[in-house]
Amino acid sequence: MRVGFARVQETSLLSGGRIQAQCRMARSSSLACCHVTSPRGQWTAGAVRGSPYSPRMSITLLIHEGSTAPYAPVTRMGGLPLAPAGTAWPVCATCSGHLQFIAQLVLEEARGTVAVFMCANDPGLCEEWSTTAGGNRAFLFPAGGLIPLPRPNGEAVLELGAVRGVERVEMPGQDYWDAAPAWAARAGRSTGEVLGQLGGNPYWLQNDETPDCPGCEQPMAFTAQLEEGPESRTAPNFGSGSAYVFTCEPCRRAAFGWQC
Ligand SMILES: [Zn+2]
Ligand SMILES: [Zn+2]
Repeated sequence: MRVGFARVQETSLLSGGRIQAQCRMARSSSLACCHVTSPRGQWTAGAVRGSPYSPRMSITLLIHEGSTAPYAPVTRMGGLPLAPAGTAWPVCATCSGHLQFIAQLVLEEARGTVAVFMCANDPGLCEEWSTTAGGNRAFLFPAGGLIPLPRPNGEAVLELGAVRGVERVEMPGQDYWDAAPAWAARAGRSTGEVLGQLGGNPYWLQNDETPDCPGCEQPMAFTAQLEEGPESRTAPNFGSGSAYVFTCEPCRRAAFGWQC
């Protein structure tokens, strides 16, 4: 367990200018960010609640490697979703509007394809950070047989302003928050080009919010952490924080949430 003081310094390293930025959600609505007054940087990954995290000797970073096609069958942020035929474009449980497509994660060994959607219709008003409130949706689709998800009734849907492909880079160590600035220093690039990590342990900005699977009621497996990326204009709105993707492969379910 790290002490908070050291963790705050590392938070400043990774976030660069972002840590100075106000929460976009708080700016754009009358609500304050639900997380902004809590202490940052608690390292709570581990055996909390018996969740299935395991020690690893390396971190798989997701590094921005430039733009890719909107329907590319690869891990990417932005673009448009691939889904099984007959899938309906998901809607927000609060505002009933169509969700924005955020990311597609192609899991190794043909374990499936995760699709993440989030409400961007009324930022801050639809609990879009919550893993359970219905202001976002995540799906664990099969690895193959996916087709472009038709736009609902041919309507326009909100898309992120960029389609970002990723390169997977293995970094030694067990701590994502150390691996990201270490990669940036080694590569001579910005930490803003770290789009997250695949597998490993979540780096919680707040408390552990690992959801239970609605199918089997067991804690879901941490699958990926996502960051907003190098450019706020085209970024998903995680309140300048980090997002977390979970799956339960036996139940073919996924969940998503974010903290700031
Ligand atoms: Zn909504
Ligand atoms: Zn389950």
